[in-house]
Formats: sequence, structure tokens, C-alpha cells
Amino acid sequence: MASIELTDLTKRFDDVTAVDGIDLEARDGEFLVVVGPSGCGKSTTLRCIAGLESPTAGTVRIGDEDVTAQEPHERDIAMVFQNYALYPHMTAERNMTFGMRSATDFSSAEIDRRVAQAAATLGIDDLLDRKPSALSGGEQQRVALGRAIVRDPAVFLMDEPLSNLDAKLRVQMRTELSRLHEELGTTTVYVTHDQTEAMTLGDRVVVMNDGRIQQVDTPQELYDYPSNRFVAEFIGDPAMNMLEVTLEAGSSDPIVRHEAFTIEVPNAPETEALDGGRAVLGFRPEDASIADRGTSPTGSVPDRRRTGRGDSERTTGPIEATVQVTEPLGDTLLCYCRAGDDEFKVQTAPRTGRAAGDAVTLTLDADRLHLFDLETGEAIY
Ligand code: ATP
Repeated sequence: MASIELTDLTKRFDDVTAVDGIDLEARDGEFLVVVGPSGCGKSTTLRCIAGLESPTAGTVRIGDEDVTAQEPHERDIAMVFQNYALYPHMTAERNMTFGMRSATDFSSAEIDRRVAQAAATLGIDDLLDRKPSALSGGEQQRVALGRAIVRDPAVFLMDEPLSNLDAKLRVQMRTELSRLHEELGTTTVYVTHDQTEAMTLGDRVVVMNDGRIQQVDTPQELYDYPSNRFVAEFIGDPAMNMLEVTLEAGSSDPIVRHEAFTIEVPNAPETEALDGGRAVLGFRPEDASIADRGTSPTGSVPDRRRTGRGDSERTTGPIEATVQVTEPLGDTLLCYCRAGDDEFKVQTAPRTGRAAGDAVTLTLDADRLHLFDLETGEAIY
């Protein structure tokens, strides 16, 4: 096993800067997920680690070694691709061992032992004689994983390995990848555009945008404390609500003024922006509670993720709003509400009869509010 360290890594393709001077470490044994929208540079970063792209600037270290100038085969890595990259004319077993049987560093018995072990781990013992055309997508992906495992590399590099599978199989393979990592403990860098995959698989998650790292944190920290607006909107489904507001000092607590409501934000820091500065108020759909207009919400806001900002259980409001549309999701009912010109989502209990046209009063969990600078998008609170 080994750590991976990227220092000031940059990759340009003509006038496109795919990776823009990033510093990143995957710790020994860590499952590090790189997530971001299409084109943000995550595959290029992974390919630089693999040696499939040579960086324009910066260094790649694997373990104690600077591998920046090394060819892919010189690096102690195994890569798993989205399209499996299996040889169609070879059996699963040959695909898994290709290149190894002619190498002098492995005995035939050792290779056989590794194949048997990987096949057992992945549940593909019965498929080893089949060619890829006789395997399902999920089975092909297992063979591709098997090929990575038998090499017993210091590092696994995975580029959207589950993207070609159907939704159900993807969830199943996700769990298997977690189990596999638990078992092998191999340092893994895993690239995906799917934030659910990132949150469920990653020990830590790297959020990228425009070739730059936006935040590196545990999944829960990313969710609870996004460092900017991009991360806040990218992580979480349904996405965090964002409303433009003005900040004011208030008599005791800072105040957020929206065209349709004014609420206090207890604990918000005393910043210059409080002097009438424009900002963006963010709150997650589950951090609001809803009641008929003129009444108070019964019960407190769902207390799911209260961690760092004190446990005052303070709420703030009221926000008078109108329900525009409802979406029953089974375990919750998503209400699209309007206040002034802004629409936002509120997650409520199902089977409450809440419906479009309802005049409602919202209360927000004061400890779960976020404020972002309108210009830079950086988190103020
Ligand atoms: P996706 O999820 O769509 O694969 P990504 O985040 O992995 O996206 P990259 O594939 O790393 O993004 O691409 C980053 C940027 O670099 C994009 O603008 C892409 O068009 C560009 N790019 C990538 N490879 C090349 C190349 N070989 N030649 C020119 N431009 C490239």
C-alpha cells in the first residue's frame, strides 16, 4: 500500500486548462473519491496519477517515489475503467492474468492462487472460462476488478467504473466495492460525477470544478459545512435552496432580509457584510418545517444532523409561503414553495395532505443555515 501526493499538478491541452495547479493527498489505505461535473478535470487528474497523461507542471508521488516521469507500467497501480477495457477474444481468466504469465516476477502457481482468491472474493469462480461477450455488464466489471486485484498493486485507480451499469446493479456493486476496500485496504482514488456514489464510497471526498479543488472533506463534513456555494449545491439531493438576501446587524442577532421575509440568523459571525451586504441564504429542504399559515409548526425541525454549531435547537422564521407543487417520494413529500419571486423545496412528512395552493408558514433550523458571499460564493457562515 502507499499514499499518493499531487503537488501543484497542472495539465493543459492547448488552450484548455483541465487541471489547474492542484495539491492533493490520498492517504495510505484511504478510499478517496474525486467528484465533480462533466469536464471539471477529474479523469485527467486520475490519468496523470496513472501516467496515461504527462502533467504540464507539478509532481505525482506514489509512496516515497516521485513517479512523474515514469511510464504507466513502471508505476505500482492498477486501473479500472468505465468501459471495462477487456480483450474480447480472451477468457475472463486470461483477461485477469494478461501480461503476468510472461513476466518473471510471478510464478504460475502464485498467479493461479491470486486468480482463485480474486474470483472467490468477486463471486466469479464459475465465469473464468467465458469470454466477455458471454458475460453481463456487471460480470464484465467484476472481471475488470479481478484484473486489478490479481496484480495486488499499491494503488487502485478507478474511473467511473459503475457508470455503464443499470441503477440497481450500480447500487449493488457500490456496496461490493466498499466491502472489497474493507477487505483489501488498498489505497484507492475513485472518480465519479455521481454525488451519491461519492458520499457512500469515500472516506474523504474531493469536490472539483473548473480544474480546481473546491473542498476535500469527509462526506458528512461536506454536507454539513460546504466551504462555498458550488459545493453546497453539488452535494445533497434534493439540492440546497439558495435565496438572495441582504444582511443586517439586527438588535441582537444578525438579520437576513429577503424581499418576502426577514429572519434572524443566530450565531452568524459579525462581518462587514452585515452592513447591508448582499449574500445568499442556503438551507437544505429537510431543515425547514412547514405549518398552515397562521399556526406554528408542530414539533421541531427534524434533528438529523446537528453536529458542530451548537445544539441550541433554535429555530428561526416565520417565512410565509405558498405551496406550488408537491412531489410524493414515498418516505417524504417534497413541497415546492414560493415566497416573493423565489421558489424553494421543503421536505415534509408524507400523508399529511399538503397540496398545491396551500398557504403555509415555514420555520428554519437556525443551526443549519448557510450564508454565502454573493460575489465569490465563499461561505460566510
Ligand atoms: P467527464 O466526467 O465528462 O469525463 P472530467 O471531469 O473527467 O469529465 P476531463 O475528462 O478530465 O473531465 O476533462 C477536463 C477538460 O479537459 C475538458 O474540458 C476536456 O474537454 C479537456 N480534455 C480532456 N482530455 C483532452 C484531450 N486529450 N485533448 C483536449 N482536451 C481534453
